[in-house]
Amino acid sequence: MINPLAPETLIQLADQYGTPLYIYHTEKIKEQYQRLKTAFEKTDAVFFYASKALTNINILRYIKNIGANVDCSSINEVKLALHAGFPASGILYTSNGIAFSEIEEARQLAVIINIDSLSNLEKFGEKFGHDYPVGIRLRPNILAGGNLKISTGHDKSKFGIPVDQISMVLAVVKKHNMLIRALHIHTGSEIEDADVFVKGIEILFEITHHFPDLEFIDLGGGFKVASKPGEKETDISLLAEKVSSAFARHPYKNGKPLKIWFEPGKFLVSEAGFFLTRVNVLKKTRAVTFVSVDSGFNHLIRPMFYDAYHQIENISNPGGPLKNYAVVGNICETDTFAWDRSLNEVREGDYIVFRNAGAYGFEMSSNFNSRFKPAEVMVMEGKTHLIRKRDVFDDLLRNQMPLPLIL
Ligand SMILES: *Cc1c(COP(=O)(O)O)cnc(C)c1O
Repeated sequence: MINPLAPETLIQLADQYGTPLYIYHTEKIKEQYQRLKTAFEKTDAVFFYASKALTNINILRYIKNIGANVDCSSINEVKLALHAGFPASGILYTSNGIAFSEIEEARQLAVIINIDSLSNLEKFGEKFGHDYPVGIRLRPNILAGGNLKISTGHDKSKFGIPVDQISMVLAVVKKHNMLIRALHIHTGSEIEDADVFVKGIEILFEITHHFPDLEFIDLGGGFKVASKPGEKETDISLLAEKVSSAFARHPYKNGKPLKIWFEPGKFLVSEAGFFLTRVNVLKKTRAVTFVSVDSGFNHLIRPMFYDAYHQIENISNPGGPLKNYAVVGNICETDTFAWDRSLNEVREGDYIVFRNAGAYGFEMSSNFNSRFKPAEVMVMEGKTHLIRKRDVFDDLLRNQMPLPLIL
């Protein structure tokens, strides 16, 4: 395991670049990727980084260079991936309720496509017939993941074509003689239990015989990382073992063995990221002492949006006595990062770091309250690089069209 960034390094970066600041430690990304590769060595699985977790172009390039493919959630992510240098053959566009025009665009860009609705499947078949291979995103109707907000495979989820509608899928495929190359499921995020993936495989293997051109089983992402001290992550070796024995139980009858695809997002980049803030105000009240940092859900929304837990530390006072605080933002809305959190005594001006901030951190940030989006810094081979400037005032006005008649 590589050493995490030391508090002194983080403080130095905060001094140099200011706060709030996202910092990514690239060697940690590489380490996570290699852990996956090593665990799945025997099964020869292919990993598509779910880029929606973090799309800074430098991170994309880095991930391309360490050998991963990329999974995209929008046509713009596809274009960013191409811009970062991924070959079209290494780019997967997994759709979710998108306009057919985007699927056509993806076809034109020659990337791999997963389709998630009967209507788009029908349109694709009509237009491309047997000419372009495509994958089908299915909803396996299983409940998995950290909590309901990040579960995507259950029987009330909008994602994928419900597997119980397989006869309708087959009718469309047959009608247009479609070339179905992959079956895809993504059941949720923060899935600790390897058996969830096995269950998904079992469900898919009940229908694989309908697809003679099938080459890939895409099991999506959702590997869990530990966010609290002592918390378990998905046991990657156990997962690899279980997945490969599930595949061994179901030899593909139609010819060559099926290849396994995964789409890890959080697993690759979460722990590589740190979010650094500074304490604006310390407010003692009868019941609670509030630590107000120079940020809020405009910069890190995961705790408010889906009750995510981030480890929080006061790196400016590591020897200070432990006290209980509520860590909040400065946004005019309730924006509590954490209630009842034990931190080394906090003083105004101290630097507060949020760990596991690489995935869905900067990426979900906004300009709410007309505040600037944070800067991003990458630490690679001991050197630091600014990879996104902090917003400036002009950014707030950039796309606005001031009307002369209301001057
Ligand atoms: C978001 C997403 C992922 C990645 O999920 P993680 O929990 O970050 O691993 C993978 N596949 C698809 C289709 C997704 O939408």
